[in-house]
Amino acid sequence: MVKICCIGAGYVGGPTMAVIALKCPDIEVVVVDIFEPRIIAWNSDHLPIYEPGLDDVVKQCRGKNLFFSTDVEKHVAEADIVFVSVNTPTKTQGLGAGKAADLTYWESAARMIADVSKTDKIVVEKSTVPVKTAEAIEKILTHNSKGINFQILSNPEFLAEGTAIKDLFNPDRVLIGGRETPEGQKAIHALKDVYAHWVPVEQIICTNLWSAELSKLAANAFLAQRISSVNAMSALCEATGADVSQVSHAIGKDTRIGSKFLNASVGFGGSCFQKDILNLVYICECNGLPEVASYWKQVIQVNEYQKTRFVNRVVSSMFNTISGKKIAILGFAFKKDTGDTRETPAIGVCQGLLGDKAMLRIYDPQVSQEQIQRDLSMQKSELDRPPHLQPASPTAIKQVACVWDAYEAAKGAHGICILTEWDEFKTLDYQKIYDDMQKPAFVFDGRNVVDAEKLREIGFIVYSIGKPLDS
Ligand code: NAD
Repeated sequence: MVKICCIGAGYVGGPTMAVIALKCPDIEVVVVDIFEPRIIAWNSDHLPIYEPGLDDVVKQCRGKNLFFSTDVEKHVAEADIVFVSVNTPTKTQGLGAGKAADLTYWESAARMIADVSKTDKIVVEKSTVPVKTAEAIEKILTHNSKGINFQILSNPEFLAEGTAIKDLFNPDRVLIGGRETPEGQKAIHALKDVYAHWVPVEQIICTNLWSAELSKLAANAFLAQRISSVNAMSALCEATGADVSQVSHAIGKDTRIGSKFLNASVGFGGSCFQKDILNLVYICECNGLPEVASYWKQVIQVNEYQKTRFVNRVVSSMFNTISGKKIAILGFAFKKDTGDTRETPAIGVCQGLLGDKAMLRIYDPQVSQEQIQRDLSMQKSELDRPPHLQPASPTAIKQVACVWDAYEAAKGAHGICILTEWDEFKTLDYQKIYDDMQKPAFVFDGRNVVDAEKLREIGFIVYSIGKPLDS
């Protein structure tokens, strides 16, 4: 029986390995992590991450061919294929701080693999890493072991949080990069055999290592660029009376453009887009390509601007002062169907509102009060944020209350900001909400989820991103 071990039981390691275990009953899969609470949660009825369909998959194979363990070294030593899916955040200090990927976790995992290995192994980069990381990993592995053959493959993950299980069951493609040597090709085939259990072979793309590594950064950069492009258009729509939904529909019908990822919003978030673009910017700079670097940097700057624009719109609409006013925040996760708040635009927006002394009542169906408070008071981001999008001070945090119901959040509020596109926000009883609010009652829809016309009929003043403004 082939044995797979995955180092890192996070948003990627957990779901990807659960799906491999489900689809490959002939393979034993062990997911290991040094963070014990996560492993305890993976072994319980309350999985550490919320992802539609994940519970079901885990229940079907946990204890049969899927295991979660903190015994990292033992399971790595026993594995034929070791996936490394550890976090690769942006470096916060030293050379490349604020842009380069911090490969500390990766390097320590690689050194441990070299230390404990007694048999040949395929080591798979599942984490998103800078192009050429495989070269560094190869050096670390070969210089720290004797007589063991390590083949490094790049197999970046393209799942999106919120639809991870669907994406893993039915990926647009699986990408495997490896060395062009006979051993490298043999390793590629071994991994291809795993995915071929359920992915049509024509959808498994095999490339050289550097193409695979760079493709992941490129894919995230293109996706984020599309969001920033439509968000940049949304600002122009508001200034001119055009409607961004109509513009998106019109341009999306062009088959060269396509209709996906054209929804204007308060900005993109999540742990990957910003980090991976910053990483791309750094790689461009290191390779003497400052013009290319500044092209990609602009994608992030537009994203920051979109949050600033949203906060400014809230303040200016509410007669230029929100000091002491109650604002309901509906949604804090970076997108619907996840509890993940990493780099969520809600952080910047809430910090901006708190900076102007608003009182916030925050509701998100999947995010805890502790998480929200931690996020709002976190240290200055690596980005140069405008002064009003700074961490909330301990006093400002006292202006935040987290509630477990949208109606509770809106009770007595002067305005509502919708920051995540949770489906439930489309069908709230807005008449009831209006009745319980201060007047005039404002709705600032940062995701264009509500029927603005209906809300206007009730009496709300509505701002929808990229849409003609109420007079
Ligand atoms: P995560 O932070 O949720 O999980 C990483 C896990 O690795 C943590 O639980 C951590 O404790 C563990 N870890 C770190 N060092 C370890 C070590 N030496 N031994 C054992 N465990 C260790 O991160 P994630 O969201 O799963 O992302 C992992 C990688 O996948 C990142 O490179 C990310 O960029 C990439 N990625 C993420 C997504 C996404 O949607 N989250 C999608 C595609 C790719």
